[in-house]
Amino acid sequence: MNYNSTRDSHRTASAAEAIATGISREGGLFVPERFPQLTQERLLQLSKLSYIERAKDILGEYLTDFTEEELYRCVSGAYAGKFDDESVTNLARLGDNAYLLELWHGPTCAFKDMALQLLPHLLTTSAKKVVDGKEIVILVATSGDTGKAALEGFKDIPGTRMLVFYPEQGVSPMQKLQMTTQEGGNVAVCGIRGNFDDAQTAVKRIFTDQALAGRLEQSGRMFSSANSINWGRLAPQIVYYISAYCDLLADEEIALGDPINICVPTGNFGNILAAYYAKRMGLPVAKLICASNENNVLTEFIETGVYNRNRPFHTTISPSMDILISSNLERLLYALADNDDAQVRALMDSLSAEGSYTLPAPMLERLRDEFAAGCCDDGATRAAIRATFDTYSYLCDPHTAVAVKVYQDYAARTGDATKTVIASTANPFKFSHSVLEALGEPAEGLAEFELVERLAACTGCEIPAGLASLKGRVPRFSDVCDREGILDYVVEQLGL
Ligand SMILES: *Cc1c(COP(=O)(O)O)cnc(C)c1O
Repeated sequence: MNYNSTRDSHRTASAAEAIATGISREGGLFVPERFPQLTQERLLQLSKLSYIERAKDILGEYLTDFTEEELYRCVSGAYAGKFDDESVTNLARLGDNAYLLELWHGPTCAFKDMALQLLPHLLTTSAKKVVDGKEIVILVATSGDTGKAALEGFKDIPGTRMLVFYPEQGVSPMQKLQMTTQEGGNVAVCGIRGNFDDAQTAVKRIFTDQALAGRLEQSGRMFSSANSINWGRLAPQIVYYISAYCDLLADEEIALGDPINICVPTGNFGNILAAYYAKRMGLPVAKLICASNENNVLTEFIETGVYNRNRPFHTTISPSMDILISSNLERLLYALADNDDAQVRALMDSLSAEGSYTLPAPMLERLRDEFAAGCCDDGATRAAIRATFDTYSYLCDPHTAVAVKVYQDYAARTGDATKTVIASTANPFKFSHSVLEALGEPAEGLAEFELVERLAACTGCEIPAGLASLKGRVPRFSDVCDREGILDYVVEQLGL
């Protein structure tokens, strides 16, 4: 299996090259040259296996330059004993036709763990194949969930170093505590005075600083990235959609071959793209339902074919979906254009020049065939948290609630009664303040762990161990710098 670039379909890379380098040199994203096909027989076989075995099997189709033994080591290193649910993910029923696919049973209580527990293993194994002996230095700019999941995934992984930058005023108290108390001898965390875009822009500048890269190379190291444009983050996400289908099959909720819908609360379009790829592999999927918050650029795009980022940015109670440029959408465009790289380049050029583009009619038709879309604001999100708890005794976080609401609207609008898997992306205790407010419980003026404990008391839900253990912990990292100071911080940390 080789990988092509979305902006140059003649460029090919092995899986290890695609993962070690992250992004193609002309700025395109790596995509598999074809989609391995799952027969019904194969789905039936997979349904009898554990999550780890399913993951090894499915990833083996994509990472053909990994040996069987390497794959097994990577996958069990990522998932064995690291998740609080033995089956790694969990499916919870929501009414007659819907299921919540809980993807947050990992150490940081958000779905990013599903990929970021595995990425360090894939990255170090890939690096051994293509750039043997180099230490990999990973720089991360985060708005919250990615930073903690990346830190937890890479801590004490030999051959790696990680530096994380977060907006000092722009993350939730729980997210900040999760990051500043991080353990591990190879990691450091620094707050910046500025917003997420400032952090991201500064980090990108460091990645493309040739002089710095030269000095790093001389010292036997190289930069890499852990964000969701890396194929090594996307591939692990395909697995859980196939695995969910297998679980429904094993539980006799569906019969072999029955189509399901998949509804995903979407930000950077990575998670829902993985569901689309699972469909391309032959998983019986009818509609992919793209759920957005008030930043509804994708809803408009799927309905009209016009992508327009020139709009106000809303700060919402589902912050991981507050994104106006969804980088992974480029991979979908490439597929909708039948791998026509010139088409993708034209659309991406229009996006950077005008901040918008319009899909040609044949691509729009294919898009609307595969996807439905919807959005809701914070008020509707809070109402969905409350209604879901009152009706089903199920407590969901604000991101998941957006997807629940959008799914329910879709089902009411279309009458579609197809069984639907809704991706549940975070544990509600990560967002205790918003969830308490949604339930109509007083939350003002309480410290973070008072909120957590009140939420547990009023819902009877259990505080996840990964968050409970942070109580009373003294932060280890207190560095803060201006955005202009990030480069100096990196130079100092790396002794360059
Ligand atoms: C990152 C994140 C999302 C958005 O996922 P994308 O892959 O960026 O679309 C949704 N919910 C939570 C809790 C997240 O952390």
